[in-house]
Amino acid sequence: MMPSRGMLRFADAVDSYEDSEFVVLGAPFDRTTTFRSGARFAPTTIREASSNFEKELFEHGVTFDDIKLHDAGDLYEEGTVDDMVSSIKEEAGRIVKDGKFLVTMGGEHSVTPPLVKSYGKDISVITIDAHLDYRDTYQGLKNSHACAHKRIEDIVGKGNVFAFGVRSISGDEDHKSALYGDAFRVHREGCEAVFEEMLKKLKRKPVYLSLDIDGIDPAYAPGTGTPEPFGLTPFDVRHIINRLGDRLVGFDVVEVCPPYDNGNTSILAARLIREVMAVKWKAAHAKNA
Ligand code: MN
Ligand code: MN
Repeated sequence: MMPSRGMLRFADAVDSYEDSEFVVLGAPFDRTTTFRSGARFAPTTIREASSNFEKELFEHGVTFDDIKLHDAGDLYEEGTVDDMVSSIKEEAGRIVKDGKFLVTMGGEHSVTPPLVKSYGKDISVITIDAHLDYRDTYQGLKNSHACAHKRIEDIVGKGNVFAFGVRSISGDEDHKSALYGDAFRVHREGCEAVFEEMLKKLKRKPVYLSLDIDGIDPAYAPGTGTPEPFGLTPFDVRHIINRLGDRLVGFDVVEVCPPYDNGNTSILAARLIREVMAVKWKAAHAKNA
């Protein structure tokens, strides 16, 4: 389906669904947010921010003129968290089954487990996050954003998911059984070294990458629901995206909270989405060349 005329689209998303290789989808859900709400506005502000950039990513030798991109619009934000989970599973499942590379803009982190589910069991997942998100339930909800890592592990199994950039773990999380690379080590030892060590632990090659924007330091990404100092830099995240390259099978960016933003967070989210698409496109097309 084509977005209707005048609808705000992600930059350069000029292709029909049928012709597209990449699809962007908004999942404006923030019902389980615990501190500052507003992530439901992020798909709109990220789309607006995306028009800020040149079509060319000269450093990759890639132009968005060559990238077949469709914007599928937003999912409905009505209903409970369980309604949201099933509507994402349905819509994302269709897009993934059609062989598209899906990029989802949250919404809060509770949108990620149903996205992961669309890929079946045979993938690895990496989350970039200040928080371990490893509670089994939070405020009575299994699908709370504070349980995202745990729900992903339920789907892909232990040893197939790790969190990176973590610097907040609660006493009621069973963190000894979780895989994660903490931000303090990243600062001491460097992103590349810690990321390589974590990457070796994953058993499966295809990787779904979920970027909780609060994994990046609030100095760069202030507009988020639960900001946490001592974070990663945008260059660290850029390194991770490029290191994964052709292994990437899907991507989301979640927890951008526009009411608390100075604009930079949405701009960074939009730029990292473009980085993922350029890197994946380059890797896929170099292989076929
Ligand atoms: Mn999270
Ligand atoms: Mn977080």
